[in-house]
Amino acid sequence: MRAAAVCYLLLIILTPTFCFAAAVERFHGVSIGMSQRLFERIYPKKQARTYRGDGTDEWITFNEPLKGASAGMVTFHLHQGKVTAWRVNDRPEVIEEYMGEFCSPSFSSQGGMPRMYAAISDVLLRIPLEAFLKVTDRRHPVLFTEVYDAGTARFANTAEIISSEDDAPAFQGGMAIIKLSTAFNEAATPAPIEGVIAHELAHRVLEHVRIVHKTCDLERQANALVKQWGFVDEYKQASLMFGHREGDAASCKEDKSK
Ligand SMILES: [Zn+2]
Repeated sequence: MRAAAVCYLLLIILTPTFCFAAAVERFHGVSIGMSQRLFERIYPKKQARTYRGDGTDEWITFNEPLKGASAGMVTFHLHQGKVTAWRVNDRPEVIEEYMGEFCSPSFSSQGGMPRMYAAISDVLLRIPLEAFLKVTDRRHPVLFTEVYDAGTARFANTAEIISSEDDAPAFQGGMAIIKLSTAFNEAATPAPIEGVIAHELAHRVLEHVRIVHKTCDLERQANALVKQWGFVDEYKQASLMFGHREGDAASCKEDKSK
């Protein structure tokens, strides 16, 4: 009787530990050490959101859940063809994957414009998850490319987004292209650049890009969203540095009452 009681007690003590271990070592049928071949039966690479590879290491992000309305993301890390870890909503990692796939190489982590890279990734890090999922959706992604304002490249230049046969399909719904002046990289602080990037992303989230006749009202809506996202100071600095001057015919003055 006593022995049975001890066993029962042990079971009570140990069960939560076993349950916890089982819960952390499996994710929708994926387990640590699983081969890439089996993993891809559950999470086919063709359905990935974003992807990054470095030698024998791969990071692959999927919508979570994979089917139906996406409520988040899951990133799996594979080393030498085996699953080693996964993380839910690891935004810095997803941003690195996204920028490697959909931004001009100049804006990649190895590119020549570190300030621009930092500004784009900081904005992507801070916007609400719903907006992030929308602008980084590979069916209709935002592409970031550079516009040169010096040298012969200011007349014409090429920025290439490279894809391979292995990549998941992209652009089925189109794409939005945000062109950023290379002069931004010379800015003393990232804040005004972030204000501009947040404003452009707000236009994409609000679907303004599809509207042919642009109005000042659309500008105000975009600015209101930028402030709602928490970029109040960045917005102010961007307006001071790049906003229209008083009396400018193209000026869209802010409604101060809002
Ligand atoms: Zn605008």
